[in-house]
Amino acid sequence: MSIAVPIETGDIPLPLSPGVVAVLEYGFARFAATCSCGWTSRRRFLRAAANIDAWEHSLHEKCDVSVPLVIAATTRRPLAG
Ligand SMILES: [Zn+2]
Repeated sequence: MSIAVPIETGDIPLPLSPGVVAVLEYGFARFAATCSCGWTSRRRFLRAAANIDAWEHSLHEKCDVSVPLVIAATTRRPLAG
């Protein structure tokens, strides 16, 4: 005879993340991190600053990071670097 024991799962994070975050490039020196969960950062002059916004959002909200991280907003194609 087996007895089912209830398991507390309150401290375990959910296995599925709510979104995927990426950095969109809107032309020369215009970058903004955005996520499929609805979050969007402010526009940044530097790509590195937008990358930090994306990683920070990923760490705080447990969203996944897009691979590649930077995507051209006009063509929606991945950028090198
Ligand atoms: Zn998100």
